[in-house]
Amino acid sequence: MSYFRPSVDAMAGYVPGEQPKPGTPIIKLNTNENPYLPSPNAIAVLKSLDPEWLRRYPDPYANDFRQATSEALNIPKDWIMVGNGSDDMLNVVVRACAEPGRKVVYPMPTYVLYRTLTEIQDADRLEIPYGENNQLPLNELIAAQGAVTFIASPNSPSGHVVAMSDLRQLAANLNGVLVIDEAYVDFAEETALPLVEQFQNVIILRTLSKGYSLAGLRLGFAIAQPHLIRGLFKVRDSYSVDAIATLVGAAAMRDQDYKNECAEKVKRSREKLAIELRQLGFEVWNSQTNFLLTQPPGNAAKIYEALKQQNILVRYFNQPNLDDKLRISVGTDEQNRILITTLSSQL
Ligand SMILES: *Cc1c(COP(=O)(O)O)cnc(C)c1O
Repeated sequence: MSYFRPSVDAMAGYVPGEQPKPGTPIIKLNTNENPYLPSPNAIAVLKSLDPEWLRRYPDPYANDFRQATSEALNIPKDWIMVGNGSDDMLNVVVRACAEPGRKVVYPMPTYVLYRTLTEIQDADRLEIPYGENNQLPLNELIAAQGAVTFIASPNSPSGHVVAMSDLRQLAANLNGVLVIDEAYVDFAEETALPLVEQFQNVIILRTLSKGYSLAGLRLGFAIAQPHLIRGLFKVRDSYSVDAIATLVGAAAMRDQDYKNECAEKVKRSREKLAIELRQLGFEVWNSQTNFLLTQPPGNAAKIYEALKQQNILVRYFNQPNLDDKLRISVGTDEQNRILITTLSSQL
C-alpha cells in the first residue's frame, strides 16, 4: 500500500549534485556554477533593497525583469516568461503539453531532469541515443513526433552544440513543441534564438544560473511567440519568482558587458584546462560550455573519491556510458591549477 501515485512510486527521483555550505574549504567543480561573483550592479541592488518588497506579493509578470531582458536581447517583452530557474520552466512545459498518450522525446545522454519531470507527469517517454561524435538522431526524433521534444544545446554532459540546420529541420517537421534548453549559451559561439521568430513551435529556455553567476537566486526564462507564452502562463504558479530575484536579475541582465567578460575568462580557462588534462592522459571532448566532459586514464569513480578526499568536487555519473567519465566545471585559473596538481600526484 502506498500514499503515492504508481508513477511516483516507480520513479527514482532526480539526484542533485552535492551542495556544500558556502565557506566550506572546497573547490566546487561539480554543478557548473560560474566561478566569478555576479555583476556588482546586481549585488548593489540586493544590498539596497527596500524591505517593502518583502511585505508585498511580487509582480506576477516580472515586468521589470522582462523589460531588462527585452532590451538586452532585443526581443519583445510579451515573448518572455520567467520562472524559478529554468528547471521551473521545464516543469511548466511538461505539465502544459504532456500527459499519458502525449509523448516527451529527447536524445540521450542529456539533462536528467527531462526524465524526472516526464515520469512525474506520467507521460509517455522516448529516449533516443546520440550517434557517434554526438550526431543528432534527427530522423528518429522527427519520426517520434513528441508532444514535447527537448534538446539541450549546448548539451550536458557532452558540452557540444547541436547544429542550427538540425534544429531548423526539427522545428519544421515536428507537430509538437521543440524546447531548446540554452542553459550554457553564454559560453557558446552560437544561439538558436533566431528560430523563435521563424517557428511557432519553438521555445528557448535561458537561465541566470550559469552565465550570470546567479544559481542561488533561482531565475530562468522562456522565449517563444506570444501564443505559446500565453498558454504556458496558465500553468505557471503566479508567484513562483520572488521580488528579490526579479530585481537583482534585472540588474544582472542590464550588465551584459560584465557577464560577457566573465564568460570570456571562463572560455580561456576552459581551453587551458583541456590542454592540461590531455597532458595527464585524459580524453577531453570539445566543449562550448563552462565544463569539460573527460575520460580519465584510470577508474573514474576512484578518481572522483580521491579528489573529494582532497576537497575537490567534480561530477561522477553512475550510469551506463558515463560511469567511466568525469564532468568537471571550469573554475578560476587558480582552482584549475590546484585540480591539475592534485590529479598529477594521484595518477
Ligand atoms: C543547469 C541547467 C539547467 C537548470 O538551470 P536553473 O535555471 O538553475 O534551473 C537547465 N538545463 C540544463 C541543461 C542545465 O545544465
